[in-house]
Amino acid sequence: ILELVGLRKSYGAQEVLRGVDLRVRPAELVCVIGPSGSGKSTMLRCCNRLEEPTAGQVVVDGQDITRPDTDINRVRQSVGMVFQHFNLYPHLSALENVTLALRRVQKKDRAQAEAIAREALGQVGLAHKADAYPAQLSGGQQQRVGIARGIALQPKVMLFDEPTSALDPELVDEVLRVMRSLRDGGMTMLVVTHEMAFAHAVADRVVFMDGGVVAEQGTPADVFENPKEARTRSFIGRYM
Ligand code: ATP
Ligand code: MG
Repeated sequence: ILELVGLRKSYGAQEVLRGVDLRVRPAELVCVIGPSGSGKSTMLRCCNRLEEPTAGQVVVDGQDITRPDTDINRVRQSVGMVFQHFNLYPHLSALENVTLALRRVQKKDRAQAEAIAREALGQVGLAHKADAYPAQLSGGQQQRVGIARGIALQPKVMLFDEPTSALDPELVDEVLRVMRSLRDGGMTMLVVTHEMAFAHAVADRVVFMDGGVVAEQGTPADVFENPKEARTRSFIGRYM
C-alpha cells in the first residue's frame, strides 16, 4: 500500500537517502531501526511530502505522490503521521485538537467531526479526557491524543517517528499498547523506533537503515536473532 522506489534525498551536497527501496503491505506493521543520522526521519517525511525527495518514487495505494500535480492535501489525508513531540495545540482541548484536522482538512461540519473525534479518542482509551487540555494530560496521554488525531482522518497508512522517545519510561507502554491495538485492528503502520522489544514482539517486518539505505530487512526473528550483515549485528548488539 506504500512503496518507496529508489528514494533519494540530498541536503546541499549531503546525500541523506541514497536509494531507499521499501514496501509496506496492507495491515502490515513495519518497524524501522538504525543509527542516528541514518535517514529514518527523512525517509518518513518524504512519505507524506513534508520533505521533497530529490529522486525516486513514493507510491501510496497505487498513486505516485511525488508527481508535481499531486494534491498534497489528499496525500496528508491518506498518510497520517505521529511525531516524537506531540505537536498538540496547547489552547485546544483533546477533542478540539482531533476535531480541527477533520474540519480543516476534510471539511466536516462540527457535529460530524466531533463524533468521529470522540470515537478516535475512545480507540486510544481517552474518551474520558476529551475536554482536557494538553497541559492537564500526561506525556503518554498527549501522545495518544496525537495518535487519535492521526487515525481520525482514516488514513491508508500511519507513520510514526519515535512516538515514545520523548516519554518517561513508565509512560512508554501505554502508547505501545495503543499502537499494538491499532495494528490488531488492521491499520497499516510504518514505525521508526528505538523500542527493540516492541519491534521484536509486534512488527511483521523489521527494516534496518544505515547510511541512507536499507541495509537489511526481514522478520523480527531474522533481523534480531540472525542478522546477516555485520553492521546490523553491531547495531543490535548495542541494544540487547
Ligand atoms: P535520529 O535517529 O537521530 O532521529 P535519523 O535516522 O532520523 O536520526 P535524519 O533525521 O533523517 O536521521 O537525518 C539524516 C541526516 O540528514 C543527518 O545527517 C541530518 O543532519 C541531515 N538532515 C536532516 N534534516 C536536515 C535538514 N532539514 N537540513 C539539512 N540536513 C538535514
Ligand atoms: Mg529521526
